[in-house]
Amino acid sequence: MITRDELTGYLHELLDVDGFQDGCPNGLQVEGTGEIRCLVSGVTANLPLIEAAVELGADALLVHHGYFWKGEEPVVVGMKQRRLKRLLVNDINLLAYHLPLDAHPVHGNNARLASLLEFLPEGTFGGSPAIGLWGRLPATMDARGLSDWIAERLGRAPLVIPAGPSRIETVAWCSGAAQSYLVEAVQMGMDVFITGEVSEPAVHVAREYGIHLFAAGHHATERYGVMALGEHLAERFALQHHFIDIDSPL
Ligand SMILES: [Zn+2]
Repeated sequence: MITRDELTGYLHELLDVDGFQDGCPNGLQVEGTGEIRCLVSGVTANLPLIEAAVELGADALLVHHGYFWKGEEPVVVGMKQRRLKRLLVNDINLLAYHLPLDAHPVHGNNARLASLLEFLPEGTFGGSPAIGLWGRLPATMDARGLSDWIAERLGRAPLVIPAGPSRIETVAWCSGAAQSYLVEAVQMGMDVFITGEVSEPAVHVAREYGIHLFAAGHHATERYGVMALGEHLAERFALQHHFIDIDSPL
């Protein structure tokens, strides 16, 4: 068991929350019960995940994508009202960590992706503080081979824009929607850039600069940080923990 305030304080420090400028508040977004024994984690605080947390008797829900994004309508109606009501009525704390959870060197999405995909990180890139990683593949591959490698480990075939060299050795990766770092990967001389999702202009950037572009799934690339963080908290504070994967094809 841990108190809510101890848990939020611990996470604030562990994830260096003050070091990031983000599009949402990082930390306690919805206040629930003061004592936490059962933790549910998941990628996005959607209604099915909240229902699973209610079902499991969760005291806290830990997510990567929470609420209150910059520019969103500042009213509690519709979908947002239903989500908040379910949390509040059931006294469930909502803890959300966005960029700090992409970047963390151990529990972060990009560190966990490196481990899952057996990439060998050599440095960081993308943003300030940097949230992406770059390094080497475990072996030289072609685009098809890398696509199969990723599909097997993420359980989802990536969208591939094959525009780089036939032998791929260097790789830059950043989970989620990180196409804005594509040119930085080009400038670093990477053979391939892997992110979660991209939009149309990125295809032409990749083709005209001659770098492979992989969109491996926003959800699929961001399962592993929150899962690892939940497991870490469970072990450290003797909590019950359930990671719930509410699948998203995007
Ligand atoms: Zn994301």
